Amino acid sequence: MNISSAGYDDLVRQDRAHLWHPYSAMGGDQPVYPVIAARGVRLTLADGRELIDGMASWWCAIHGYNHPVLNAAITSQLDRMAHVMFGGLTHAAAVRLANKLVEVTPEPLQSVFYCDSGSVSVEVAMKMAIQYWQARDRGEKQRFLTIRGGYHGDTFGAMSVCDPVTGMHRLFTGVLAPQLFATSPGCRFGEPCSAEDIEAFGRLLQHHRQQLAAVIMEPIVQGAGGMRFYSAEYLQRVRVLCEEHGVLLILDEIATGFGRTGKLFACEHADVVPDILCVGKALTGGYLSLAATLTTAHVSGTISRGEPGVFMHGPTFMANPLACAVALASIQLLLDSPWQARIEAIEAGLRDGLEPCRELAGVADVRVLGAIGVVELHTAVDMKRITRQFVEAGVWVRPFGKLVYLMPPFIIDRQDLTALTDAVVTTLAGNG
Ligand SMILES: *Cc1c(COP(=O)(O)O)cnc(C)c1O
Repeated sequence: MNISSAGYDDLVRQDRAHLWHPYSAMGGDQPVYPVIAARGVRLTLADGRELIDGMASWWCAIHGYNHPVLNAAITSQLDRMAHVMFGGLTHAAAVRLANKLVEVTPEPLQSVFYCDSGSVSVEVAMKMAIQYWQARDRGEKQRFLTIRGGYHGDTFGAMSVCDPVTGMHRLFTGVLAPQLFATSPGCRFGEPCSAEDIEAFGRLLQHHRQQLAAVIMEPIVQGAGGMRFYSAEYLQRVRVLCEEHGVLLILDEIATGFGRTGKLFACEHADVVPDILCVGKALTGGYLSLAATLTTAHVSGTISRGEPGVFMHGPTFMANPLACAVALASIQLLLDSPWQARIEAIEAGLRDGLEPCRELAGVADVRVLGAIGVVELHTAVDMKRITRQFVEAGVWVRPFGKLVYLMPPFIIDRQDLTALTDAVVTTLAGNG
């Protein structure tokens, strides 16, 4: 059922009057498109138009929209209870999901902390690292080292380790903790990493090791900070250096977790296991906001034996039963599906489909890893214009800056994927 065009305009007008959107200006002139339904890989706009979704709602909707299995998981939990506080109480959805997370993540990660969003899971990871060293009488170890080009979220702790330029540290200098930044890896995914490539990182780590609680980075894929894919060997060298210098390793798998890069977790490309792992985004298959921070029994045990004897965090909606139930169903659905074959097929489709972009004026690079396809341009796109062009072409693609990228739901078929890549090629050719 579509809404009338008067209803459509009214909705958009009221949205403009009262709502912020992500990274938006109040009263700005960027278009917003009302969605009335979504099913499979298709979004239905209020005027009846259907768009093929190339974004999976920012990495989340890996099974597509309105999936009967996920719908059933939520409604059956809803019949029992929507929410109950997690202080002093527990429930089956939280326990079963924790078991599943421990089972699917690399071996020594045993302790699970639930929170509401990716950014908060990063805050929690950073707190864990600081409390770990406090418990070991090394309270001076409170800083973090990362690589440039990263993105870890929008809260203050997370922002402090985002790329200082794209993360706009300039705006918040007075309130952001001053962290340490190594140049982003020069070695690409699939390439070796030389001693020279890791040298600057190693020097910073060695020089500041007495103050460093942890290294934090996104494994293999740097997402919102620039969509770059770096060498697995780089990550392996980081792991070794962290051990040598007595610094914990936090890996942020919020974007990469649950299959997106072709492995269940991107750290598996390098056979590297972190001390602390953040997951979010696709955790619930895009249904509800939930994230988790996992750590080893050694880290959780050390924190719990130290002063003040507890981990100092406890969100109101911690372990929300609806979110836990749908997350458990989503992980099971993923594991029961031929997800590796699907990601391989998407990877091949993205490679073939985006290849013609290399010949276009204005294109700096085309890169594909797993179900992520990126076209990097020389200059930033005109968002208003390109969004309209994509919608007119029947696809939902939302570039940022110089990056036009696709990360569709895993269930997309070849024909819809081709429609997405064709729309990218045609639109960029028209704008070049
Ligand atoms: C999206 C993202 C976050 C932040 O997650 P939110 O749920 O938006 O708070 C953190 N790290 C990475 C790698 C992300 O992609």
